[in-house]
Amino acid sequence: MHFSNIASLTVVLASLASAAPTRRCEGDGTCPEVQTWDNCLMPNQVALTFDDGPAGFEKDILQTLGDRKATFFLNGCNSQCIYDEENVKQIRALHAAGMTLGSHGWTHAHFNELTYDQMHDQLWKMEEAFKKILGLKPLYFRAPYGEMCDTLMRVLTERGYKKNFLWSDDVGDSSLLGVEYGKNVYKNISESKPQHPHMILNHASHESTVKEILPYAIEELECAEYEIVAVDTCLGCQGEWPYEWVGEPQERDETWVC
Ligand SMILES: [Zn+2]
Repeated sequence: MHFSNIASLTVVLASLASAAPTRRCEGDGTCPEVQTWDNCLMPNQVALTFDDGPAGFEKDILQTLGDRKATFFLNGCNSQCIYDEENVKQIRALHAAGMTLGSHGWTHAHFNELTYDQMHDQLWKMEEAFKKILGLKPLYFRAPYGEMCDTLMRVLTERGYKKNFLWSDDVGDSSLLGVEYGKNVYKNISESKPQHPHMILNHASHESTVKEILPYAIEELECAEYEIVAVDTCLGCQGEWPYEWVGEPQERDETWVC
């Protein structure tokens, strides 16, 4: 009886271990799952994420962040074209400052309305932009509108992505909920004890988020002794270098168009 209990415990522990969200490859070489994360793992850490850029406010975000790290999920052809001179300059500045950069798809499409081929096209066009502007291939993706489906996960897997990111808190800027609403999201986090981790959705395309909410957020979070980090850091040992490879950026040519 005693032995049987130990055997049962061993089975339970083994099943718990196998539930850990590790990337696994099958015998035929296919890797069936991209991990989706909606929060950080490390206590006392907050990941600020900025979607929908480039939108012209990247230099303001960088200036406000100072030495702190954040994550930017970029589009190619959303409110602005990623290949515009100023956007190329700002994206290179984000990368030089050590910000984590990921793909948010080419046109901010509703992925659950796209075909398999259209999804590949959305991701491929962004990968081309990352390759031309920065000389790298991203491993991180955030689905526009948080919309996911099995086909998207399959396409992400086929293209070698490692993680799809959602969020734990939303400042509500894309829903036009106002600056006070956004500030309250941060106030509630700073006042919560213990300091659980958070992954917070902001939009680089909203001027009031960049110029009013972000400075307030940094002050509140740091007063509460939170550390502001990028998503790869706040996942602890589950995080990884967010790029498949990093090489040399390319020179502008006639293909740099939206
Ligand atoms: Zn978005």
